[in-house]
Amino acid sequence: MKKYDVIIIGGGPAGYKAAETLAGLKKKVCIVELSDSRVGGTCLNEGCIPVKAMIESAHLFHKMKNSSAFGIEAGPIKIDMEAVRASASGKMDMLRKALYSSLKRQGIDFIFGRASFVSENRIKIDSQESEAENFIIASGSSPRKLEIDGGDIVMDSAQILENGFHGNKLLIVGGGYIGCEFASLYRAFGKEVTVLETLPSLTSMEDDDVSRTLEREFKKKGIKIITGASLKSLSDQNGKTSAVIDRGILTEEAFDGVLSVVGRLPRTGDLNAAAAGLELLSSGAVKTDGSMRTNVPNIYAAGDVIDSPMLAHTAYREGLIAAEAIAGIKTREINYGAVPRIVFSFPQIGAIGMTEKVAASSGIETKVYKSFFAANAKTLIAGETAGFLKIISALEDGVILGAAAVGGEACELIHLLAPAVTRGMKVSEASEVMYGHPTLSEIVSDTLSRKAV
Ligand code: FAD
Repeated sequence: MKKYDVIIIGGGPAGYKAAETLAGLKKKVCIVELSDSRVGGTCLNEGCIPVKAMIESAHLFHKMKNSSAFGIEAGPIKIDMEAVRASASGKMDMLRKALYSSLKRQGIDFIFGRASFVSENRIKIDSQESEAENFIIASGSSPRKLEIDGGDIVMDSAQILENGFHGNKLLIVGGGYIGCEFASLYRAFGKEVTVLETLPSLTSMEDDDVSRTLEREFKKKGIKIITGASLKSLSDQNGKTSAVIDRGILTEEAFDGVLSVVGRLPRTGDLNAAAAGLELLSSGAVKTDGSMRTNVPNIYAAGDVIDSPMLAHTAYREGLIAAEAIAGIKTREINYGAVPRIVFSFPQIGAIGMTEKVAASSGIETKVYKSFFAANAKTLIAGETAGFLKIISALEDGVILGAAAVGGEACELIHLLAPAVTRGMKVSEASEVMYGHPTLSEIVSDTLSRKAV
């Protein structure tokens, strides 16, 4: 039996970033992944990449339909959803193959199969056993199930990406970032989309002005939004799915399909965590400290499987920290207050740091700088004038606490504020930066030069 310095369970962003880091530090590393088609994890195979690849097609479709505003007559344009999905899966295949061969070239071994612990330094992969001095659990997350009558007839995000949606009328349960991305995607391709959210607004983690702008633009595009309401039950009726919705009164409506995106849960069920003496939280997440170490000294965990934002970029950073901690390198702990939050819907949302509502509930007085995309030359040229950027600073000392943008390219724009929020820059310091003209980026200096409220 080959003994490794480190075995990593899961080949997603947390797992492969940790593996690359350890291989670079000359450690003997092995990644255990369910199958070769899952290398790259949820992100590459059923998350970030396929959704964004299809959103790119939707964006192009929208541009082509509106090309006459730019003086271009494109003639009849039609969409072939199967070709859109094939285009996305071609890109995924390319990325997966490139990632796999790059990891192999770095000397990283792979074992394909389902891993579970036998003890704190031994795991079983199907019937085979392997040993290592250290382990990193990077087994990710899986979709939370809808606990209602008929909840098993919904599709989850992986299933809709795998099988497509062939009907016309789609109910999306969950108005978080994944729900909003799917709503934009299917609406852009001409489907009748309804988003149902229990909380009072879509993307409720963001400030009200951000959610309101998103909802207004969604409605303009014909997306139906039902907030403050819950799904009571689903039933199959002659090939359609009948949904009973509670909005104070019970209503019933038929859909061709229901997509459930009501959150994700850490995937620890298969790990036999007890055999290694691992402590889990009530959510099933693996409990870790700031260097990603669990309660068992030689076992670390990173990514969606721990209690932190379920995002690929946090998974990468946590994987890196776990790897460096194993190698005895002391790294800086993650500043979870400066994790970018990005939603690739139409319009996009980009946000980082504190929202106004969190500042208010923490008793922090703020000064808020805000300007609208309509006043920016580049958005006017691109025909994407809806939206705004706001920058939130502390009234006391002018330190930039957070920022949020909604509108075209907000996902890129927000990263211009990432250094300021990460390093706690003051408004006076951030104002020194000069931006090229005409760009969307210059909206940052325009915003900071406005009178704050
Ligand atoms: P994963 O990527 O889930 O990888 C874990 C791997 O472990 C899996 O491949 C699994 O097969 C394997 N595994 C699990 N158990 C075992 C076992 N017992 N033995 C062997 N292998 C095992 N994040 C963003 O930052 N930006 C986005 O735009 C974005 N879009 C998303 C869209 C959708 C539809 C979804 C579902 C998610 C999206 N995410 C996005 C979230 C992102 O995909 C995850 O945060 C990220 O993949 C987490 O990485 P991870 O390495 O922790 O886990």
